[in-house]
Amino acid sequence: MRRPYLIAGNWKMNHGPAETEAFFAAFEAPRHPEVEVLLCVPYVSLPAALVRGGYARIGAQNLHFENDGAFTGEISGSMLTKMGVDSVIIGHSERRQYFGETDAHVLKKTRKALESGMTPIVCVGEVLAERRAGTHVDVVKRQIDAVFTQLDAAQASATVIAYEPVWAIGTGETATPEQAQEMHAAIRSWLASDTRILYGGSMNAANAEALLSQPDVDGGLIGGASLKPDLFMSIVQTAIQLR
Ligand code: PEP
Repeated sequence: MRRPYLIAGNWKMNHGPAETEAFFAAFEAPRHPEVEVLLCVPYVSLPAALVRGGYARIGAQNLHFENDGAFTGEISGSMLTKMGVDSVIIGHSERRQYFGETDAHVLKKTRKALESGMTPIVCVGEVLAERRAGTHVDVVKRQIDAVFTQLDAAQASATVIAYEPVWAIGTGETATPEQAQEMHAAIRSWLASDTRILYGGSMNAANAEALLSQPDVDGGLIGGASLKPDLFMSIVQTAIQLR
């Protein structure tokens, strides 16, 4: 059976509640049983997204790895699931770069997301210097192994990976479809599970078809192009046409 596409938006620190309402008022993606649509919005916009999101799944962009306690400013997995949030991005390169998240944090957060009943979207990817040095596959293998050697088969299947070459995030520079496929195929060869692998890094309406048609690309994690309903809808439409 084919793995369903997952077309996921990452709004980052954009779109408060009012902009979220406006986004969903204009967002009407056609449906397809093999194309899931997810929007990962800021915490404060979750209530509006959950009410207005229609058939889109709604996710968060981070969680803490404990259930509760003295962790000022943090939000737990159980708080998110009780609201109706069903997915969470973990280990995005911006969290690794600006907030000191390590592979060990990513593992703890992935476990907590699974325990809370959410789909973890675990982000991996090399920086430009690592690609230039030819160590990109080793770097991504280390990031994948840190999490997936610690999960059982059911947990691994319930997790989603987003391969996001850091040099392609928010830069307008996309990995070529061949570069994306090469890394996705490598990741797939390391996994015993049928985990979905999304590509992320300047995916947009113009390049989505070439990327999504690669055999091991199971969807996209989309930053900039997920902020505008028409751009995001056209990526969803592309995925539907490929099915
Ligand atoms: C991201 O933030 O995960 C991302 C891929 O951003 P962009 O699409 O803007 O490169």
